[in-house]
Amino acid sequence: MSECGRHFERISEYLDGELDQETLVEIERHLSECPRCGNCLESLKRTIALCRRLEDEEIPLDVQRRIKEKVLECLAEESH
Ligand SMILES: [Zn+2]
Repeated sequence: MSECGRHFERISEYLDGELDQETLVEIERHLSECPRCGNCLESLKRTIALCRRLEDEEIPLDVQRRIKEKVLECLAEESH
């Protein structure tokens, strides 16, 4: 798997704040160096922020699903 794919596999954990510090730093370093992953993350963050503002609660399941689809979409683009 590409380096991008490896990082994006963890992205939902990253967004949930579930990663340990070491992995967090590693992912953030990659995101700052890789415009494509950075762009993907930005759109994911917007989706989540919008959702949180509306619900003020946990991310609903359908949004979680959309996030995962978006991640897979990003991964698919990587393999071209
Ligand atoms: Zn990347």
